[in-house]
Amino acid sequence: MKAARLYEYDPAMNVELKIEDVRPPTIAAPDEVIVKVGAAGLCRTDLHIIEGVWKDIMDIEGGLLPYTMGHENAGWVEDVGSAVTSVKPGDAVICHPFNSCGICMSCRYGHDMYCDHGKFPGLGLDGGFAEYFKTNERSLIKLNTGITPLEVAPMADAGITAYRAAKKAAKLLNPGGYVLLLGIGGLGHIALQVLKHTSGARVIAVDREPAAQALARDLGADIVLDGGPDLIDEVKDLTGGGAHVAIDFVGEHGTENTCWKLLRQGGELIMVGYGGTVEVPTLELVANEIKIGGSLVGDFVELVELMEMNADGKVHMHQTEYKLANINQAITDFKDRKFTGRGVIVP
Ligand SMILES: [Zn+2]
Ligand SMILES: [Zn+2]
Repeated sequence: MKAARLYEYDPAMNVELKIEDVRPPTIAAPDEVIVKVGAAGLCRTDLHIIEGVWKDIMDIEGGLLPYTMGHENAGWVEDVGSAVTSVKPGDAVICHPFNSCGICMSCRYGHDMYCDHGKFPGLGLDGGFAEYFKTNERSLIKLNTGITPLEVAPMADAGITAYRAAKKAAKLLNPGGYVLLLGIGGLGHIALQVLKHTSGARVIAVDREPAAQALARDLGADIVLDGGPDLIDEVKDLTGGGAHVAIDFVGEHGTENTCWKLLRQGGELIMVGYGGTVEVPTLELVANEIKIGGSLVGDFVELVELMEMNADGKVHMHQTEYKLANINQAITDFKDRKFTGRGVIVP
C-alpha cells in the first residue's frame, strides 16, 4: 500500500515525507482492527512531530523512524481480530485517536486519555497517512447514517480536542458572559460552533488571518478581532473587564502570555495549543483569582457526543482536501495558513 513516511526530524521543517510502497498492517492481537482509510486530518501536532518536539516521548514508546504519521482517521473496517464483535468489515467508522486498555482504573472511570497502557497511532506508531492503518476495537465509533469518513475524519482529534475544551468552558459560562477563542483554525472553528450551541455566552473570536475572521463570522461569532497590539485593551473595553473564559488554541509565539491577560477577575484560561511557556506572576493568580489549566484531546464519550452534534447538523468540519501524493504541499500550505479550517489527506 502507499504510505507517507517521515524519515528524519528537522526543527526548521525542511524535510519532506516520502510516499512509498509498504506492507499493509495485519491483525496480530484479538482486539485489533484494520481500517481502510477514507481520510486523515493534518494536525499541528504532525508539524511538531516533524520538528522533533515529540521525539523523546515517542522513543520511550518504541517509536523509531521511519514511520507513518496521521492520527485523525476515519474509514471503513477492512479486517477484524478474533475477539472483535462490535464492528464488521465494511462498517464506516471514526477512530478515537488513543487506543486505551479498558482495564486500568483511569479507563474504568472513563478517563481514556489517562489510560496507563494507551497507545497513540500516528505518534510513534504507524498512523493514517496511508491506505490502511491498525487500531483497536475499543477506539471505534460507527458513523451515523449518511455521514461519510471524508466529512468527519479530523473530528477524531481536532474536533474532539476542541469539543472537550468547549464543554469545559460551557460549564463555566452563563448567558451574557464572554468566552474568547484565540485561534480560529481547525480546532477553534469547531469550538466556536459547539459553544454557540451549548453555552448561551457571547463568543469573541480572535485571529490575525482575514479568511479565518470571515469563517468565524459565518459560524456566528458575536465579536471578531484581529489580535493586534491593542487586543488586551479592546477585550477589556468590549467585555467590561475581560473574558469569563478564554481558550488558547495556539499556545506559542506569544499567545500563551497574552491570553491570561484577557481574563476578568475570577476568569479561567484553558490551554489547548502548546509549544510556549506560560509565565504568570503569583500576584496575578492571587489578586485576580484567575485559573489556568490544560485540556488533553478528549474521552471516547466526548467523541460520541460530538458525532451526534455533527449528525444533527450543529457542528461541521470546514476543510480542504489533498490527495496522499500531495501531502507535502498540504504541509506547506498548513504552515503558510493557505487554507481555513482543517487540511485533510485522502488516500
Ligand atoms: Zn491532531
Ligand atoms: Zn486503561
